[in-house]
Amino acid sequence: MDFKKYIRDIPNFPEEGINFKDITPLLQDADALKKAGEVLFEFTNSIKVDKVVGMESRGFFFAPILATRLNAGFVPVRKQGKLPYRKISESYELEYGTDILEIHADSILKGEKVLIHDDVLATGGTAQAVCKLIEKLGGEVVQCNFLMELEFLKGREKLLDYQVVSLLQY
Ligand code: 5GP
Repeated sequence: MDFKKYIRDIPNFPEEGINFKDITPLLQDADALKKAGEVLFEFTNSIKVDKVVGMESRGFFFAPILATRLNAGFVPVRKQGKLPYRKISESYELEYGTDILEIHADSILKGEKVLIHDDVLATGGTAQAVCKLIEKLGGEVVQCNFLMELEFLKGREKLLDYQVVSLLQY
């Protein structure tokens, strides 16, 4: 399937100069949604996974789909201040300034195998921070799984210690 025809470019969103890749046409299409979930699952090679971690907010679309296919639990990583229970935090660099991501302290047990999923790998800062959160809790990151990779931003260079897979490359 030509998944790229379901990704649309939105110039100057959310800021001037950014060409945003909008995945909602893919989500809206029953066939594309189902097939994309299947291919992302095939990338896992059915490795043993205890938890699938999805990043707020567009990581939440496919992470639970992957979790059910892998017989794993789903764990959300959210921006600071959104999670209600005891949590740990990790800050990461943005183009201008820093941001903070959080995960519930009881969401991953020591030694658990964890797959992380997000819609887009751009500079890799988000995924790197999420890997740190998981490792702080004693989890082992077994795959970083993305719908899309913006290769020119070289996010993989921040994830050299991990297996990185993506369905679409730009
Ligand atoms: P990074 O931390 O790798 O620079 O950025 C990745 C994060 O930014 C992801 O959580 C992703 O949702 C978001 N992101 C960055 N650029 C885009 C884009 O063009 N389209 C979409 N859908 N998300 C993006």
